[in-house]
Amino acid sequence: MAAITLDGKAVAAKVREEVAADVAEIGSIGLTTVLVGDDPASDVYIRAKHKAATAVGITANDIRLPADIPQPELLDRLGTLNDDDAVDAILVQLPLPGHLDEARAIEAIHPDKDVDGFHPLNAGRLYLGRPALVPGTPLGIMRLLAEYEIETRGAHAVVVGRSAIVGKPIAHLLLQAHATVTICHSRTVDLQKHTLDADILVAAAGQLHLIGADMVKAGATVVDVGMNRTDEGLFGDVDPSAAEIAGHLTPVPGGVGPMTVAMLLKNAVTAARARRGLVSSAT
Ligand code: NAP
Repeated sequence: MAAITLDGKAVAAKVREEVAADVAEIGSIGLTTVLVGDDPASDVYIRAKHKAATAVGITANDIRLPADIPQPELLDRLGTLNDDDAVDAILVQLPLPGHLDEARAIEAIHPDKDVDGFHPLNAGRLYLGRPALVPGTPLGIMRLLAEYEIETRGAHAVVVGRSAIVGKPIAHLLLQAHATVTICHSRTVDLQKHTLDADILVAAAGQLHLIGADMVKAGATVVDVGMNRTDEGLFGDVDPSAAEIAGHLTPVPGGVGPMTVAMLLKNAVTAARARRGLVSSAT
């Protein structure tokens, strides 16, 4: 029997409706994005984020900086945004041009305005189990699981990938949701042995069709984070044949992707609420 689709498009639409209601309640929310240089892919991402933000009533400000901006100047600009009371949320589009230190740029954003959840303080809070701003992709995965009532408590979750923006944060969120978590990576010996034992399998390796049907446990929930662009289109890390074995599966496209942007908007609400003292960012 074919797996049930975890419909990221539909759930993302629901999240956007919630955010629109939140924005109306709060009054106004300011999101500022910073794009350094003119990378075409980054330009597409920034436009998509602005369109999504504007559609839910968030005031989105698009700062474009020259590709050769010196590091101190970039840090200065971020400092100005930190001090600007009209700015609730700051996003620096990655990757930055090679001469700029991404880690320093992320650390220059005030943690309370760090809408991407990449700042070490926010990563540390997640590690400690008291998250504030969490990266949109893992947050979106958790929302998808909740929406389809996938049981995480006591489940064995296997995460393939250990990046700071997907693998590690989703592993922590699953752990916090009482799953038993295994993290696999490129040096894992016998990946199949681990994935076959997963009740929840998160594939975030960026390797086209890495996860075959023979690596999926019958009835498992499979979350495909991979975005592999080929001449034939966009494909995930999970081979389509896995749909015959899995119980639930996220499609690519239309699964995790739409959730990422929706949860970014949700994070802007979280940041705005915390800054206005409506909830504590430390809880
Ligand atoms: P990344 O930084 O390149 O990390 C990839 C991870 O996968 C690494 O930890 C790597 O292990 C591991 N890996 C690579 N090949 C492997 C293999 N053969 N077996 C087991 N593990 C392997 O990538 P990322 O930023 O986390 O993104 C992962 C994928 O998700 C990409 O396709 C990306 O485009 C996609 N993505 C999608 C969204 C979305 O919104 N849908 C958002 C973010 C990312 P090592 O650590 O040992 O190198």
